[in-house]
Amino acid sequence: MIDLHTHTTSSDGTDTPRELVNKAIVQGLEVLGISDHDTTSGWQEATESLRGNLKLALGAEISCLTDDGISVHMLGLLFDPLHQEMQTVLEETRDGRLPRMRKMIQKMQAEGFDISIEDVEKVMPAGATMGRPHLADALVNKKIVKSRDEAFTDLLHNESRFYVSHAAPTPIEAVKLIRRAGGVAVIAHPFASRRGQILGTKDFTDLVMAGLNGIEVDHRDHNPSERAMLRVIATELDLVITGSSDYHGTGKLNSLAENHTDRAQWERLESEANARRVVSL
Ligand code: AMP
Ligand code: ZN
Ligand code: FE
Ligand code: FE
Repeated sequence: MIDLHTHTTSSDGTDTPRELVNKAIVQGLEVLGISDHDTTSGWQEATESLRGNLKLALGAEISCLTDDGISVHMLGLLFDPLHQEMQTVLEETRDGRLPRMRKMIQKMQAEGFDISIEDVEKVMPAGATMGRPHLADALVNKKIVKSRDEAFTDLLHNESRFYVSHAAPTPIEAVKLIRRAGGVAVIAHPFASRRGQILGTKDFTDLVMAGLNGIEVDHRDHNPSERAMLRVIATELDLVITGSSDYHGTGKLNSLAENHTDRAQWERLESEANARRVVSL
């Protein structure tokens, strides 16, 4: 099976890159994509952990904001990790996440929540991209909520009064950047409406003009009719169709490879990168 979208302790997943690679090997996956939020810091450990027949499609899930303030996640896979502009953009986004977290915490403190930035830093793995799931973990530790899921449902979702966005490229900028860095761009869970406002059909055309390669169709946050609509859009725009788990370890219910990508779709996607960057032994 081919699972192109997962997270590790380099962002808000709970398995280290080594643990995740081991799980993929035990499950007999063909290709594992590792796509931590706004970082490539897990790539080296994942590569060093590789054994047997597993192949790695290394990447990052780039946080984006449209000019209208809609949050979009863009998967960049198989890009050159030494591409300077890519690393600069990723670093700028990561840097914006600390002041953003401080603002969210201030809003919560103003309503009497006993939570501080130190509480968040305590639960974060060293070097991880800071995100709301870490704030959720801190709230669990403080017994304010029972789980990450409860934290998001009650307090941290995109429409929440505590929500603050952070600086990020637009989806079109992100697609162009991924392609300039030689990789392929797949829009992640585009119809996950539970997370807030979503893109319209016209937006997909603009992304294709920018160089978009694929759409993540099979994802747990899409219901059957959303998947059907996305399949139509992908077919009309001649885009690769992917499916993935968005696995986060114990941080979410998603299990590894619960959704996956057809081999023919993967082969086409892989061929659209500007060099063969799949890692295999
Ligand atoms: P951020 O990048 O800080 O905006 O946080 C977004 C992350 O929160 C995404 O990676 C999601 O996977 C995660 N997330 C969203 N909803 C939930 C939920 N209900 N339970 C756990 N994690 C979630
Ligand atoms: Zn995440
Ligand atoms: Fe995402
Ligand atoms: Fe994700």
